[in-house]
Amino acid sequence: MSEFCLIDTHCHLGFDELSCDLEGVLSRSEAAGVCGWVNVGTNIEQCGKVVELAKNYENMYAAVGIHPHYAKDADGQSLCELEKLAQAQKVVAIGETGLDFHYNLSSCQDQIRLFESHLELASKLNLPVIVHSRDAFEQTLEVLDGFEGKIPRVVFHCFSEDDKAAKLVIDRGWHVSFTGVVTFKNADKARAAMKAVPIERLMLETDCPYMSPAPMRKQKINEPALMVHTARLAAEVMGVEFEEFARKITAVSQDFFGIKLY
Ligand SMILES: [Zn+2]
Repeated sequence: MSEFCLIDTHCHLGFDELSCDLEGVLSRSEAAGVCGWVNVGTNIEQCGKVVELAKNYENMYAAVGIHPHYAKDADGQSLCELEKLAQAQKVVAIGETGLDFHYNLSSCQDQIRLFESHLELASKLNLPVIVHSRDAFEQTLEVLDGFEGKIPRVVFHCFSEDDKAAKLVIDRGWHVSFTGVVTFKNADKARAAMKAVPIERLMLETDCPYMSPAPMRKQKINEPALMVHTARLAAEVMGVEFEEFARKITAVSQDFFGIKLY
């Protein structure tokens, strides 16, 4: 067992790439020192899966939401099912939800409408929100600002904006989470954004199975164990000794999601 314990605050362990060898994925994760997971649902089927999986593993928690990609198909019934799932045991956040104007797989109006429904649900259940925002930073802020004071905590996951944008998030009292992208050679912008975030508001994630961190980019399927590479780089960027850094961001993540590790 390692000397430190990190939490992967955003992974998709229900996706086929990882769920087909989940025991292997989790044991490699623990051996590497990543001993807690927030497993994130992206549609109703996946949300059912993350709720079920969390029952089997002490340090695995669930977040439920319908990704903006699927906004066009989200109707009243899916929102009703989502609300039910959100009240299951070990569900610690609503998400991922937000706006994606990069792929535009659903119309802008449908995405905004679905995002607002998620925020209403989070407000009603007093749960934190995991926000996905791609090429839609200003619009994402605008929607969130409409819910000022109603959502207990907000994290911008897989942050891809610059340091000025990070400050806008921090000024609102929210958190910022980074993936392995910060380890990439050409990711100076992401590292500058990370530096602008106080450690009390910083979290890390893999967003696996996507985007393995350097030096493991050749590993096609990312998994929680690899978050250690991101954490080592992040400690350097933040100028904090690694084990102290690990302790601190784990405490931040636990407070954000209101979770314990066993
Ligand atoms: Zn994700």
